[in-house]
Amino acid sequence: MTPSALPAAAEVVVIGGGIVGCSTAYHLARDHKADVLLIEKGRLTGGSTWHAAGLVGQLRTSASITRLLKHSVELYDRLEAETGLATGWKRNGGLRLACNADRWIEIRRQATTAKSFGLEMHLLSPGEAKALWPLMDTSDLVGAAFLPTDGQASPSDITQSLAKGARMHGARLMEGVAVTGFEIENGRVVAVLTDHGRIACEKVVNCAGMWAGEVGRLPG
Ligand SMILES: Cc1cc2nc3c(=O)[nH]c(=O)nc-3n(C[C@H](O)[C@H](O)[C@H](O)COP(=O)(O)OP(=O)(O)OC[C@H]3O[C@@H](n4cnc5c(N)ncnc54)[C@H](O)[C@@H]3O)c2cc1C
Repeated sequence: MTPSALPAAAEVVVIGGGIVGCSTAYHLARDHKADVLLIEKGRLTGGSTWHAAGLVGQLRTSASITRLLKHSVELYDRLEAETGLATGWKRNGGLRLACNADRWIEIRRQATTAKSFGLEMHLLSPGEAKALWPLMDTSDLVGAAFLPTDGQASPSDITQSLAKGARMHGARLMEGVAVTGFEIENGRVVAVLTDHGRIACEKVVNCAGMWAGEVGRLPG
């Protein structure tokens, strides 16, 4: 969609076309049938997403974040078939290595946490780790852990796939449009102002990544 076709209104305006914005647009359009307009000042995936290595690890210290990452992996398992756009997703598992006794204690604690979160994680001897990755020098390895459901993907491709999925469910995505401010009435945003015009809206989701603070401080 070109900036000249900027809609005058949308139920939800999503700001930012990185992986978070495209995923938000996809889920709002698919699961909530929302009328979504995503605004990206440059090109989709042009922010931090373009620089990411694409490692997808699920275990965090927070149960909620781990649950969210488990949802991501389930989504990546089927996204390519759903949209027809390759994501580069490979569920090849992830190794965590301990090269000293303290790190080994930490990894064993992580295994207990993983179990309580329902995430598969196996503790390995150095020999078992080497069997999984024969090129590794295990001379200083105390122990390791393998998380078989972790993997890697292409961040830009996943984002484009999510963008296509969002469009398939009716979302509109616009590149080359920068948000410059907001119109606020009674403490609520009623319109997003851009360098291409005004968009009346009911809700705004700020997915501008490292620019989110800047966007939040825009006049309004
Ligand atoms: C070197 C590196 C390696 C990384 N490796 C990994 C990894 O292996 N695994 C992992 O999970 N994470 C990794 N990350 C982190 C990951 O890249 C980020 O967490 C993720 O990309 C953030 O996505 P985002 O959508 O929030 O932000 P972004 O991708 O930055 O998207 C924000 C978008 O908002 C747009 N925007 C900003 N202001 C405006 C405005 N006023 N109007 C309209 N649009 C606006 C920007 O142009 C941008 O496209 C890595 C990061 C880096 C830098």
